[in-house]
Amino acid sequence: MNSASGGGDSNPGDFQPTERTRIKRLHQRAVYDRAGVYAILDAGLVCHVGYVIDGQPFVTPTAYWRDGDRVYWHGSSASRMLRHLGRGAPVCFTVSMLDGLVLARSGFHSSINYRSVIAYGKARLVEGEAEKLAALEAFSERLTPGRWARLRPPTEQELKATTMVSLDLKEVAAKVRTGPPADDEQDYDLDVWAGVVPVTCVTGPPEDDSRLKPGVERPAYLNNMVVG
Ligand SMILES: Cc1cc2nc3c(=O)[nH]c(=O)nc-3n(C[C@H](O)[C@H](O)[C@H](O)COP(=O)(O)OP(=O)(O)OC[C@H]3O[C@@H](n4cnc5c(N)ncnc54)[C@H](O)[C@@H]3O)c2cc1C
Repeated sequence: MNSASGGGDSNPGDFQPTERTRIKRLHQRAVYDRAGVYAILDAGLVCHVGYVIDGQPFVTPTAYWRDGDRVYWHGSSASRMLRHLGRGAPVCFTVSMLDGLVLARSGFHSSINYRSVIAYGKARLVEGEAEKLAALEAFSERLTPGRWARLRPPTEQELKATTMVSLDLKEVAAKVRTGPPADDEQDYDLDVWAGVVPVTCVTGPPEDDSRLKPGVERPAYLNNMVVG
């Protein structure tokens, strides 16, 4: 990852900071390179989608996935959020991951290690059945490679009941904090433990459904599942 504000090399395909995405606070933590941003997006599963209806801000947590230079999210066709965004409303799309508790020798310098992405734009309704199906397949394959082909295909009714929107990744910035606490020089002499407590997202052992048909084997992809 290069840090655009921190003076790293920038490639033609990287995101260009805009008035909205230029990171001002602790700008050395800014990441605008496409690969770095996509690595964060691909590690996440839940985003927070911000939008305004009649002057009231709403922030909705929901699952998402990336396919190429777009992110997608979906839900019930009755969802107010999706109906609103499908009309091309401005949206603020955020993904954040907690990587560690940074315990400094003072409360002031205690911090959080994190990776986060914020993207702005207008959401677009995914209308064609083919694009909807391809996006759903990409979502499923990302988490559980090989599963989609084994599932019962969605019915026309199920597709109708599902609304999907996408956001083109154009105006985007990421911010990343890593490493130990940064204490005031004189505080390093204090008898206070300091360091980082890493935080990771761990999947547990798979639990068979109580109505699992006898003889159905647990698929191999469940052994290597990684989220975050
Ligand atoms: C898990 C987590 C915990 C955090 N905890 C704290 C905390 O306790 N206190 C605190 O002050 N900050 C915290 N942050 C950082 C916080 O997200 C903001 O970056 C910070 O508060 C500065 O906000 P600002 O509006 O002044 O930033 P500015 O630099 O003014 O923001 C300008 C633009 O930069 C972009 N930007 C800003 N922050 C981010 C970001 N995190 N990711 C991607 N793009 C960004 C946005 O496009 C924004 O419009 C945390 C972040 C994460 C992910």
